Amino acid sequence: MQVTALAPRLAAAQRQVFANRRMRIGRSKVSHAVAWQTGADGVPRPVPACHTGWWGTGAGGELMATRWPVTCRRCRRIDGEDTTAPDVLQLELFRLDTPG
Ligand SMILES: [Zn+2]
Repeated sequence: MQVTALAPRLAAAQRQVFANRRMRIGRSKVSHAVAWQTGADGVPRPVPACHTGWWGTGAGGELMATRWPVTCRRCRRIDGEDTTAPDVLQLELFRLDTPG
């Protein structure tokens, strides 16, 4: 089977995997909104909405679908969320003795 014959199947599989999901890049705990970008071969691929880069094709497991809420500030800002408000998704590492 030629590679070009696999492209529509790959695109359909990626659409199914990332439908109504967010994405993580590699082992990162940051969750990005999913956008789609059509490559030079005419095949649409899932990409982070904020254009964060990664190494690979995305089909090799570098991009992983997740049900986590979007934690990337750029993606949240692109989605119209007010990112100047305190981040309720950001875990507190430690509490300051003095008010900030
Ligand atoms: Zn992002």
